[in-house]
Amino acid sequence: MVVGKKIEIQNRATSVLNLLKREYPVAICELTHDSAFQLLAATILSAQCTDVRVNMVTPALFAAYPTPEKLASADLSHVEQLVRSTGFYQTKAKNLIGMADQVMTRFGGEVPREIEDLITLPGVGRKTANVLRSVVFGLPGLPVDTHVGRLSRRLGLTKLEDAVKVEFELNALLPPVEWGEFSLRLILHGRRVCDARKPKCEECLLESLCPSSLLPTKRKPRKVVKKGAKKSANKSSKKTAKKTAKKARRK
Ligand code: SF4
Repeated sequence: MVVGKKIEIQNRATSVLNLLKREYPVAICELTHDSAFQLLAATILSAQCTDVRVNMVTPALFAAYPTPEKLASADLSHVEQLVRSTGFYQTKAKNLIGMADQVMTRFGGEVPREIEDLITLPGVGRKTANVLRSVVFGLPGLPVDTHVGRLSRRLGLTKLEDAVKVEFELNALLPPVEWGEFSLRLILHGRRVCDARKPKCEECLLESLCPSSLLPTKRKPRKVVKKGAKKSANKSSKKTAKKTAKKARRK
């Protein structure tokens, strides 16, 4: 990448970071939890599901299985029943029990902190691992979900689609201490303003520095051709064509 372009993207990332911090001073994870184990379970359940729905399910799940030890020996069909409404419930229930079992057998009942360890647990990818690191352990971690990916591309901070590659590109643009909350703020902004289908660019605080701000809500409205106007326009153009043909024949 040309050096000037690189500096431009770096400056834009810093401006986005500062503006989002001002707009959303409080950036918290919306999944209800009291411990690393609970957040890990809730984040596994949040795949393809809203935080609101997960928060409706977890109180009963955590009441029945408050520790990794209890969840590791749970009855699969009971867990399935508890998490059914979050979708993909059979896989999620299996992953929850598998995660708890491995936390017990490989990590002495403590959720690990290192990303290399976290991603070996069933149902845990880099996104979930980074949520854990940044929200519970206060360590650097930038979870890239659908909002973070979309906004980063619209804001011209990356051109990449792959979440892991986007994570590394963003990491290089921002101080590690900001990674977790930057992700949370982009998610908030994606939900409230920069919608996937209808971004509200006209009310977006990032509009002046966003290369996508003309898309699509700020496009000029197409001219509406009144009924009848089109017909008469066609007629007159046909007449003109006939006249021109006549003149040509006379010559
Ligand atoms: S200006 Fe529009 S496209 Fe850019 S971040 Fe804001 S809402 Fe999204």
